[in-house]
Amino acid sequence: MAFKYPWKWAEDPSKLNKVELLKLNRDGLDILDDIERLAQAGYEALTEDDLQLLKWAGVYAQRPKEEGYFMVRIRVPSGVLNSRQAREVARISREYGRSLVDVTTRQCFQLHWVRIENFPDIFKRLADVGLFTYEACGDCPRNIVGNPLAGIDPNELIDTRPIVEAVQKALWLNREFSNLPRKYKISISANIYNAAHAEINDLAFTPATKVIDGQEVVGFHVWVGGGLSSKPHMAQQLDMFVRPEEVVKVAVGVTRIFRDYGYREKRHRARLKFLVADWGVEKFQEVLEGYIGKFPGRGEDKIVGWNAGYFTGVHRQKQEGLYYVGLSVPLGRMNADELEELADLADKYGNGSLRTCNTQNILITHVPEEKVEALLAEPLLQRITPFPKPFSGHAVSCTGIEFCNLALTETKERMRKIVEYLDARIPLDTPIRLHINGCPNSCGQQQIADIGLQGALVKTPEGMKEAYDIAIGGRLGPGATFNTRLKGRVLAEHVPYVLEALIRFYRDERQEGED
Ligand code: SF4
Repeated sequence: MAFKYPWKWAEDPSKLNKVELLKLNRDGLDILDDIERLAQAGYEALTEDDLQLLKWAGVYAQRPKEEGYFMVRIRVPSGVLNSRQAREVARISREYGRSLVDVTTRQCFQLHWVRIENFPDIFKRLADVGLFTYEACGDCPRNIVGNPLAGIDPNELIDTRPIVEAVQKALWLNREFSNLPRKYKISISANIYNAAHAEINDLAFTPATKVIDGQEVVGFHVWVGGGLSSKPHMAQQLDMFVRPEEVVKVAVGVTRIFRDYGYREKRHRARLKFLVADWGVEKFQEVLEGYIGKFPGRGEDKIVGWNAGYFTGVHRQKQEGLYYVGLSVPLGRMNADELEELADLADKYGNGSLRTCNTQNILITHVPEEKVEALLAEPLLQRITPFPKPFSGHAVSCTGIEFCNLALTETKERMRKIVEYLDARIPLDTPIRLHINGCPNSCGQQQIADIGLQGALVKTPEGMKEAYDIAIGGRLGPGATFNTRLKGRVLAEHVPYVLEALIRFYRDERQEGED
């Protein structure tokens, strides 16, 4: 049964969109009780409503829908993972998902080619190792992104793992929050380089300090109303300092506001960012204080820059004598054998700990100094390498037309060819981050890229062809700005040459230190 709360919508549902009307009668989480039955009945027996609600189970029908395969998304809060979990994901992928494993821009894993008959076994095996797909999709609190280095990071103010866990415990699978107006994305990080991309989340916590009663207290600043898709918004900061033990209270308060006041008429105007933009942060804070009481005002912001979520290479951990090795997974895609081998390497050289990054990469952590060299010599690290070429090592891609029903264009293979072309032709001393999306929805986060590509179709004398809008100059952290779209739309086959000209122009004309 759906949790009953005082919506104006329950009294007058006349303006609700189709998905909202469905959710009035069936809570998304109800689908979890139906998995066995649906799996036995098979794909053909699924209704449109079942397909909609299956998102709460973390699965989407993949393109083309008629073929009956699913994408399965696995939550990895803050990207923190152990070798047992990684191994099980690899094995499930090998058995049921044609050995394909993608790392997403929210630190999740995605499998493809999965049949509904296999859901019960997959969900059980994941649960046995403490992994879940539930609420990885749908109008609910999604995977909490965080600092992939939490607990080992020399650049974090505090270890955020227990905080992420506590927020997840308060919100996840909680029927008070399983019917939100739209997806709901949280980021929690105490890394001073904004590793968890705070500004593009509905709700974000970033490191801060404040002197209270003569003592410097470490805590967080709070951001609300960020998000990408076709109408990107930067999150805005509330005038609030939050102690670590108060993060859950604030997260619950903000989520309640979204639930109670978020827009439910039009799907494309339902994210929290639209409410925040309409209200303004002052009103938002006032309403929030009505829910959770007053908090002290902002302290000192501790974000000093933006590392864009990249950790490739070999780096010292906070713990004396231990290192983490940041590996570049080309466009976030591995096969099952590679992931299983990464799990083995994490056991052999580290303590079995791995981390996923919002740049679609993977880290092996807790490697003692004397084992680093041997790890670097492993054959797998020649492909999934800590020392990628400048363009290949800074490329992010959404799923695209290969599997996504909303896609207009191909992305991963396209981007692979683009970065190989650029790496072969332009030596560069500074990384340039390229992101690609197959449609305006921005799962590939193109608006925060140095160069963002957004897929479109254009009419040509030979028929409709794939093309890309190109936007330049996106960044987060201090001076955050979305990139600016250039005039014109470039046919897909011309993109490498246009980018080559653009990057050569930058390289030749830039001033000292100009990015
Ligand atoms: Fe699909 Fe568009 Fe998201 Fe790419 S950006 S995965 S094409 S919805």
